[in-house]
Amino acid sequence: MKPPFTKILIANRGEIACRIIRTARRLGVKTVAVYSDADKDSLHVRSADEAVHIGGSQVSESYLRGDRIIEAAKSTGAQAIHPGYGFLSENPDFVDQVVNAGLIFIGPSAASIRAMGLKDAAKRLMEEAGVPVVPGYHGEAQELVVLANKANDIGYPVLIKARAGGGGKGMRRVERPEEFSEALNGAKREAKAAFGDDAVLIEKYVEKPRHIEVQVFGDNHGNAVHLFERDCSAQRRHQKVIEEAPAPGMTAEMRAAMTDAAVKAAKAIAYSGAGTIEFIVDASEGLRPDRFWFMEMNTRLQVEHPVTEMITGVDLVEWQLRVAAGEPLPATQDDIQLRGHAFEARLYAEDASKGFLPAIGTLHHLRFPEDATEGSTLRIETGVRSGDAISPFYDPMIAKIVTHADQRASALDALAQAVDETEIAGSVTNAAFLSALARDSDFAAGDVDTGMIARKQDALTATAAPGADVISFAALVASGARSDEQSNDPWTAIGGYSHFHPLSRGTTIGLGDTPITGRVTRLKNGRFSVLLEKSDRPYEYPAPGSDERGKRFAIWPGHVTVFDAGHAYTFSVYDPFAAAAESEVGASSMRAPMPGLAKLVMAAKGEAVSKGQALLILEAMKMEHTITAAHEGVIEDIVAQGTQVTDGTILVRFADQ
Ligand code: ADP
Repeated sequence: MKPPFTKILIANRGEIACRIIRTARRLGVKTVAVYSDADKDSLHVRSADEAVHIGGSQVSESYLRGDRIIEAAKSTGAQAIHPGYGFLSENPDFVDQVVNAGLIFIGPSAASIRAMGLKDAAKRLMEEAGVPVVPGYHGEAQELVVLANKANDIGYPVLIKARAGGGGKGMRRVERPEEFSEALNGAKREAKAAFGDDAVLIEKYVEKPRHIEVQVFGDNHGNAVHLFERDCSAQRRHQKVIEEAPAPGMTAEMRAAMTDAAVKAAKAIAYSGAGTIEFIVDASEGLRPDRFWFMEMNTRLQVEHPVTEMITGVDLVEWQLRVAAGEPLPATQDDIQLRGHAFEARLYAEDASKGFLPAIGTLHHLRFPEDATEGSTLRIETGVRSGDAISPFYDPMIAKIVTHADQRASALDALAQAVDETEIAGSVTNAAFLSALARDSDFAAGDVDTGMIARKQDALTATAAPGADVISFAALVASGARSDEQSNDPWTAIGGYSHFHPLSRGTTIGLGDTPITGRVTRLKNGRFSVLLEKSDRPYEYPAPGSDERGKRFAIWPGHVTVFDAGHAYTFSVYDPFAAAAESEVGASSMRAPMPGLAKLVMAAKGEAVSKGQALLILEAMKMEHTITAAHEGVIEDIVAQGTQVTDGTILVRFADQ
């Protein structure tokens, strides 16, 4: 078949840019990447045929600079621009500019995006088209009294949503009228920061809600089809964690009702390209065809599009390119068949045990499993390689782990295994959380609603302390002991210490703030034994790095990470001086856990504060994090509101007690 274009530009970064490049290459379409300062050596830049630098690391200086992106497309002779997701993908003004520059936008028309862009207008439009919408207020008024009255009329609990919203930002669930005003302020502040628009709508909060969305596809010839549903009910703070297709428990009747409504919605706006109609479902009494409502339409390719590709065999990016080039949809509704079951887990650099604080760092070690479990298919979507950094500028997603099998249970099992076998050192990740969720009994039973993760959060994020076996092994790796293959003379590895004892050496590692000491002894058979100071028995291991299958580990500057049963345990190669300095500062001050903006400072110099009191709001990764007092005390100094802080900056200093 003829390639739809000769050259396209991808106005995005990370995994989605790499994903689009892959399909373009298969179709014989040349690709142009764009990149910021921070991304100059990124995988998407390496993977494309050409790359154009478009500005600074902040997204406002690069990936949101539509003018520079269009300029790059023109100067490289690209015919069309693929926006990926996020950034400019749903910005109708950008679409207008692309079209006015004589280029093709690989996505819907500006008019379709405008029609669905604001949640309030979209809901009005869908109501007219006969698509069920969530009961609530989606009018123009924005005054506190009006909105508070509407909330009373709707009945608590209600959900405040930014009309320009996306990614769960600017959204607040409100239980009681007394909490309305504060929640409204918070939602508006977050919406203003994320979207530059603080208007909100109010919806009835649906109890036991499930998020089920339908993939639709339209072309410029009046055709529209659906590619079945995806279930994205496993959410944390309204952000999707694991998605799957089809939806567990879906009935033929419910599917027919939902996919009909979705195609009706797409046709109502003469939709062309890939789109998703998101529905909220009241699953308190199972899936019932009269209990689903339109929430919003995403007028782009979704992060979770791979699960649809896995169950239908359709390459959605290929369809996007063909439809944008003016071809009719490559398939009719009857051609599109659903086969098997697929899952996608979003692997993030974030600390689940610290309230999912986004992390940054260098991925000193990154290894994905190569093989799927028997009878399943594994697909990894990533935009990073070993040695790449997760920077504070962009979404900290490391990869999407996607599996497919004939049965849901085997696809889920394959997912859990693939997550467990993924090795990452250098940054904390949510892998253990994903693994716990994939193995959760309710999730496995398909009994999941959007509140399930929050209800089980403690269990799902519980951090298991490493056992003596893992610690001993880390101590062994930290001691420098290696296999014969890696060192001609096995004595040299520990030889520097041979004046203590010819066969053994002491070693100290740090687990958090705790130093752990042990003694490593090389045995005659080339194996090693480790006796920790506080352990009652020694543990024996093959030499680290030898062929004999032992524990998996990674060594990176100052650290050792041991991978064990889905957990990554990181130990510092202990430096007591650094530890002393650290604890002295730790007691009297609080540092920024990540780079960000001191958005709102709520305590003043000289103020006596109690433990747990909110001191300031740090905005980082476009989300607000409340920094609370680690202990009671008097504030000697606190960062000024509006200050941009870096990782480790002292935010609050307490006066000496
Ligand atoms: P965003 O565009 O910010 O992602 P959505 O409108 O798509 O926001 O909603 C995100 C998630 O919030 C949904 O998947 C669902 O879990 C939850 N949600 C949205 N509306 C409601 C509602 N009315 N009641 C209960 N939960 C809701």
